[in-house]
Amino acid sequence: MTELIEKYRGATNRLILLDYDGTLVNYYPEPGAAVLPDHIFHLLTGLLNTPNNEVYIITGRSSIDIDRLLNNLPINIIAEHGAMMRINGVWKNNISDPCLWKESLMPVLNQVTLKCPGSFIEEKRFSLAWHYRNSDSATGQAISAVLRKSISRAAHTAHLKIINGNKVIEILNVEVGKGRAVKDLLQHKSFDFILSAGDDATDEEMFANLADNRNAFTIKVGNGETCARYKFADIFEVGRLLQNLTR
Ligand SMILES: [Mg+2]
Repeated sequence: MTELIEKYRGATNRLILLDYDGTLVNYYPEPGAAVLPDHIFHLLTGLLNTPNNEVYIITGRSSIDIDRLLNNLPINIIAEHGAMMRINGVWKNNISDPCLWKESLMPVLNQVTLKCPGSFIEEKRFSLAWHYRNSDSATGQAISAVLRKSISRAAHTAHLKIINGNKVIEILNVEVGKGRAVKDLLQHKSFDFILSAGDDATDEEMFANLADNRNAFTIKVGNGETCARYKFADIFEVGRLLQNLTR
């Protein structure tokens, strides 16, 4: 922590990449309830108002969803795992996928939803997600494995990837990813301090892309295997870090 804060203070171009669910806010049974808490809103505002900071929320959420949850915070956003981006208030697409594949996969998702009570489908602009956070854990795990297997060939043919996230299976264009999004950011500008925090499988791409960057502090939130340099126990440790940076 001391090394990180020292580096932060001494840096002239800082990039801060924060995942949303499981990193800044806890998971809720109803995803729409995960509104940004007031104290985190204020800490992020502090980071945004510090000169030489570029701050991004980098999330798998849809643009509409994350916009609403952030409560008009004027922060840059990378949404849908990198497929969409909001810079200085303007949204743009990073990919031009007409998503014709959705039509053939939707019936498969409908089938597994019927077999797994409590599960639900979320359609985003460039992806389909099947959530089972409110289902019996063992049933959800088992059916998610069956789902991944049953769509793997079709996904490969259609150049899609299947993300096995925290109680969610998500299908999207193989070119979309948080790793790719971060790579694009670093191509346009160099930073002498990078902070990247996340809790889920999709964040590992981001950590992997920053592994060789000696200015990068990568932080995995919660349990599990990771290629991040550091581990935090929970969202409260992330809150404490933001507090230290804005002090
Ligand atoms: Mg997350």
